[in-house]
Formats: sequence, C-alpha cells, structure tokens
Amino acid sequence: MARYIGPKCRLCRREGEKLYLKGARCESEKCAVTKKRQSPGMHGNSRSRNRISPYGLQFREKQKAKRIYGLLEKQFGSYVNVAMKSKGVTGQQLMQKLETRFDNMVYRSGFAVSRGQARQLIRIGRFMVNNKVYNSPSMELRAGDIIKPVEFDKLQLREGFLLPDWLSANIKDKFVKFERLPKIDDLSENINLQLIVEFYTR
Ligand code: SF4
Repeated sequence: MARYIGPKCRLCRREGEKLYLKGARCESEKCAVTKKRQSPGMHGNSRSRNRISPYGLQFREKQKAKRIYGLLEKQFGSYVNVAMKSKGVTGQQLMQKLETRFDNMVYRSGFAVSRGQARQLIRIGRFMVNNKVYNSPSMELRAGDIIKPVEFDKLQLREGFLLPDWLSANIKDKFVKFERLPKIDDLSENINLQLIVEFYTR
C-alpha cells in the first residue's frame, strides 16, 4: 500500500498544529510546530486561516484527519463512502472506521509512540488479535477483540498515555480489550468531523 514518506513535521506545520506523528519528539521542545509556527514553503507566512473560505476550511480539516491517521486520499475517501452508506450519524461512523483500524488500536493501547510506529510493528508481526498474528495495519477490529503483543517484554508502553474509556487493559495477562465502539465524545484529537462530511457532500 502506497504511503506518504516525506517529512512528517512539514504536515503539522501546514495544518498549523501538532498532529503527533513522531512520538516523543512531539512532546519535546524540538517539535517543529512549537519552534516555528509558520507554514512550510516560501509563502508560509502569508497563509492564514482567518482568510480561508468555507471550502478551504473543509478541505484543510479533511487533510488534517487524513494525516493524523496516516492515510492517503483514496483510502480516506473510501472510509467516508462507507460511513455515508451506513446507518447513523455519518461523522460518528467515519470516526469509528478510523479508530477501529488495527494500527490505531495498537497506538491507542499505548504499545506504540505513533500510528506510524504501530503500522511498522504490525507489518513485522508483533501483534496478535484474539491470539492470532495479523500483519495488516488497516484491518478493522470489532468490539470484544483482544490485542496482545507477541513479545510484551520487547515493547515499552508509551510514557504517560491514557487508555481511552472504550478500551480496557489486563495488566496481568498483558493484553488490551476493545470493549465498545467509540463515540464522538471519545475522540481526543481536534478534528471537526462535520466539516469533513460537508467537504464530501458539497
Ligand atoms: Fe508534528 Fe511531532 Fe513534528 Fe511536532 S514533532 S511537528 S507534533 S510530527
């Protein structure tokens, strides 16, 4: 599957906020957004969200969400299509599709410092779902699934992370359980799902 391999900090600078794509560095003073608030490129300083059109706002919100979850245009668009065809609130359906990806669940469980690292670890077979190794980061997990590292001792839990309410941890047996589907209120990222839906329905 194709993926973006350019500089990650550039993506955050373009969105003007931290997207937490690089693990520990994102919390440090070295973070490019903390150091340099200007957008990348020659005209970075002249770009301003204050002058942005409604279409521009929707477009930027879509770009931001895509970058947070590490997806390309086509993948992201297909999640939106599925969400639109599903019963229920489209924004919430989209958020559930994104959050229940295997790579996101590994990240949310605290086993990886970023979704990018989670993807790498999954590809080399470091995680099991219901006691079976899977190496597809995009696999969709379901409520009740158990995520377990193959070798827990070789992994370090992300420092200071908080397990979301919709997951539970079993410290003794070293696994995380997917308890229930997340709701919009559970989303910790600063994403306006309504703007994204408006972008695709314009
Ligand atoms: Fe984004 Fe992290 Fe780079 Fe900061 S350090 S700009 S949050 S990827």
